[in-house]
Amino acid sequence: MEDCLFCKIIKGEIPSTKVYEDDNFFAFKDIAPVAPVHVLVIPKKHVASIAALTEDDADVAGKMLFAIQKVAQELGLDKDGYRVIFNTGEKAGQTVHHMHAHILGGKEMAWPGV
Ligand code: IMP
Repeated sequence: MEDCLFCKIIKGEIPSTKVYEDDNFFAFKDIAPVAPVHVLVIPKKHVASIAALTEDDADVAGKMLFAIQKVAQELGLDKDGYRVIFNTGEKAGQTVHHMHAHILGGKEMAWPGV
C-alpha cells in the first residue's frame, strides 16, 4: 500500500532497525520503546488490523504467531517471558494501520498496564 508507513519500512524506503525477516514477515525495533525490548512484527502483506482480516488472510494470520515466537526466541526472551500486544482500532491505541504485534520484554510487567 503506497501511503502505509510500515509498507515503506518493509521496502526499505524508510529506515528501520531490522531484527528479523523472512518471506512473509519483517520485525524491527520500535522507534519509541516502552520496554527494554520493544520490537514490532509485521506481515509483508498489507492488512490494516486484526479487525480487517478475512479468510484470505488465514495463512498469514496463523504464521504470524510462529514468526512472533521465532523473533522472541532470537531476542532471548523465552526464559523470562514477554508480552505480545495487537492494538486494534483507534480507541485501543492503534496509530499505524498495518497490522503489527508489539513484542515487549526485558522487565517485570504489571497487568493490564506495561
Ligand atoms: P500502534 O500505536 O499500536 O499502532 O503502534 C505503532 C508503533 O509504531 C508505535 O509504538 C510507534 O512508536 C511505532 N513507530 C511509528 N513509526 C515508527 C518508525 O518509523 N519506526 C519504528 N517504529 C515506529
